[in-house]
Amino acid sequence: MKFTSTRSVKELDAAQTITQGISEEGGLFVPVSFPKLPDGIISKMVDMDYKQRAFEVLKLYLTDFTDDEIKKCVEGAYEGKFDNNNPAPLTALNSKASVLELWHGPTCAFKDMALQLLPHLLTVSADKVSQGKTMVILVATSGDTGKAALDGFSDVDNTKILVFYPVDGVSPMQKLQMTTQTGSNVAVCAIKGNFDDAQTGVKKIFTNDEMRALLEKNNMEFSSANSINFGRLVPQIVYYVSAYCDLLKAGRVKVGEKFNVVVPTGNFGNILAAYYAKQMGIPIGKFICASNRNNILTDFINTGVYDRNRDFYTTSSPSMDILISSNLERLLFDIYDHDENKISELMKELAEKGRYEIDTNELLKLKSEFVGGYCDDEQTADTIKRVYNMYNYLCDTHTAVALRVYEDYIENSKDDTQTVIVSTASPYKFAKSVLSAIDSTDGTDSEFDMVEKLSEITGTVVPAPLADLKSREILHKSCCEKQQMADFIKSTLGIN
Ligand SMILES: *Cc1c(COP(=O)(O)O)cnc(C)c1O
Repeated sequence: MKFTSTRSVKELDAAQTITQGISEEGGLFVPVSFPKLPDGIISKMVDMDYKQRAFEVLKLYLTDFTDDEIKKCVEGAYEGKFDNNNPAPLTALNSKASVLELWHGPTCAFKDMALQLLPHLLTVSADKVSQGKTMVILVATSGDTGKAALDGFSDVDNTKILVFYPVDGVSPMQKLQMTTQTGSNVAVCAIKGNFDDAQTGVKKIFTNDEMRALLEKNNMEFSSANSINFGRLVPQIVYYVSAYCDLLKAGRVKVGEKFNVVVPTGNFGNILAAYYAKQMGIPIGKFICASNRNNILTDFINTGVYDRNRDFYTTSSPSMDILISSNLERLLFDIYDHDENKISELMKELAEKGRYEIDTNELLKLKSEFVGGYCDDEQTADTIKRVYNMYNYLCDTHTAVALRVYEDYIENSKDDTQTVIVSTASPYKFAKSVLSAIDSTDGTDSEFDMVEKLSEITGTVVPAPLADLKSREILHKSCCEKQQMADFIKSTLGIN
C-alpha cells in the first residue's frame, strides 16, 4: 500500500507516511487506493475480539510492517489499557439505534482509540526510516487529544511530546488531566488564543524550514499525533468495521445490509474514518455529521460553501469547537477524484480568504452520502436529560449533540435504517454540564464534587482515571502568546 498527498503526487510507504505526519507542501497523506476487505473475512471477524479485528484491518494498510510488528503494536495499545475487554462496545438504545462507546480507555474519551496505538506505530515506523532520531511530537488540542497523546507517549523511548491547548478552551477536568501528566519526555503549554490558533501555530512550525533544519542538526525530527497523521486515522477505521461485526453478531443487520452512522464532529477525523471503512466494503448508508453551534460543517454540507469568516462560540461540547476541520481535505480529495491541483487551489483559498466553494457536481456527490445537522447548548442539555429519562442511559455533551441531530434526521427523513451513534466521551469528563442537565442544582461545586454527585444521583461508577486525578500534583504551568510557541519548543528541547 502506497500513500500520496492531497496536494501533490507522492509515493510513500506507511512507515514514511506515519513518521512524516504531514506532507512538506502542507498536504495530508492518503492511501493511493483503498484496500478492500477480502471476501469472507467479515464472517470470520464476527467471532474475533477487538485486537484480532484491528490486526485484520491494519495489515491491509501497513503492508511494509510484518505481521509480528502489527500484532505487537495492537497488543501494546489495547491489552489491559481499556476498562472493558472490548474497547469499543456497542450498546443498544432501542430496536433501531445503538451507541458505539469509544471512551473506555485511560483518558475516558475516544481519542484513546487511536492515540494508544499511534506511539507503537510511530516507533516501529521511525525504526524503519530514521533510525536513532528522536521523534518530536507536536500536538495542538481542544482538550481530549492532548491528554490522550500525553498518556500514549509518556516515557516512550526516542520520543518527546509537546502539547499546546487554548487557555480558556478546555474543561477544568481536561486541563487537570494534562497539567498533572508525568513522564520525562512530556511538556504542556497553554496558548493565549483558541484551538484554531494553536493548530495553525503547530502547522506553521511543522512546515517551517528553519525549525526543521534546527531539529535535523540536533538529530531530531518533527512528527504529529494530531488527527492529520494517517497513523491516527487507521485505528479509527477499525471500530467501524468492528461495529458492523457486532451489529451482525446481534442480528441487527444482515450481511451487506446498510446502516447509518452519526458522528459528533470537530476536526472531521472520526467521520472520515467511517467513510474510509465504507470504501473498504463496510455497508454504511448515510454519514450524519453532527455539530454544535459552530456549525460550519452543517452549512458546508448543505451549500457547498466552506466559510470560516464567522463568530467562534465556546460551547458545552468543547472538543467540537472548531472552525477549520483539517480532515475534510481528505474527503475533498476523494470527491474530486484525486485531483491534487484542485485541492491545492481550494486550500489556498481557505488560507487566504477563509472561504472556498466546491462545484455543483461535487456538492451532489457529497450530499448523496453526507447529512449535516447541529444543535445548541440548550438542546444538548435537554437531550442528555431526555435520553437519561427515556433509556436510563447517561451520555456526555458531545454524544448528546449526535443524538439530537439523529432525532432531527429521522423526524425529517423518516429513514428507519439501523443506526450507530458514536459516543466520544464519558459523561464524567463533562460532569458539570451533564449534572446540570439532569439535576438543576446550583453548579457552584468543585469539579470533583460534581463528579461524585453525578455518581450518587445516577448510580453509575466514576471511571478510575478521573477519580484518581484529585490527588495528583500540578506539574505543568506554562502559558504563552501564540507567537511564542516556537520559543517554547526550542527551550523545552534545549536547542537554538
Ligand atoms: C475530538 C473529539 C470529537 C471530534 O472528533 P473529530 O475526529 O475531531 O471530528 C468529538 N468528541 C470528543 C469528545 C472529542 O474528544
